[in-house]
Amino acid sequence: MTLKLEVHEDLKWAEVVAQRWIDFVNGHPAARLCLPTGETPRPLYALSSPKIDLSSATVFLLDEFDLPRGSTARCDTMLQRDLLVSLSAPPAVLHRLDVNAPDKVAECARYDASISDGGLDLTLLGLGGNGHLGLNEPGSSVDSPTRVIDLAQATTQAATRYDPDARPVRGMTLGMQRILDSNEIWLLVTGSHKAAILEQMLVGPIGSDLPASYLRNHPNVTVLADESAAAGL
Ligand code: PGA
Repeated sequence: MTLKLEVHEDLKWAEVVAQRWIDFVNGHPAARLCLPTGETPRPLYALSSPKIDLSSATVFLLDEFDLPRGSTARCDTMLQRDLLVSLSAPPAVLHRLDVNAPDKVAECARYDASISDGGLDLTLLGLGGNGHLGLNEPGSSVDSPTRVIDLAQATTQAATRYDPDARPVRGMTLGMQRILDSNEIWLLVTGSHKAAILEQMLVGPIGSDLPASYLRNHPNVTVLADESAAAGL
């Protein structure tokens, strides 16, 4: 297994990962980056946003919930609030999946093509409590395309952490195939509530029951965990 695992003290995790991210972005100004939202990347974005220049970068949002525009649980709302608003230089281009598009299948195909033309230099990911990546829920195949997806109940429930009234049942996600095409991937994992799923992802079988396990077959993945999340390892 080529996957690299880095474990940092809980209180140092955000600072260490933010510095790594600042160094990457500033060293690759024209990078094509895919970014997640949710609780995990928030401290990293908060610490790094005043120090990075994305004005030559292209940013792709990893996924989106099928929720009304402006919902605080929407990924585009979270990215805006947690990262974009405090950047001194916004990304040259920001791509996102439009869940309100009239033809959702065509929208997913458009998004998939915009990524396959040029690929991704770095993809940051969070780890779903059920092992999903983006919204590639358990059952997703290794070559699953960018698509509309019915959410697992656990994912609908988890979205209430972002907004107690949000109950998304569908979403759109970058497919496993494009995620795994990325040159480099960092999986961000924090908190004791992620310890069991991180352990399963690293030592259990590789397969669709736990889509994050596919990362073990990728040549350039770094798992950046805090000590609480790594407690089972
Ligand atoms: P979280 O979400 O960072 O809010 O825990 C991770 C995920 O579901 O991918």
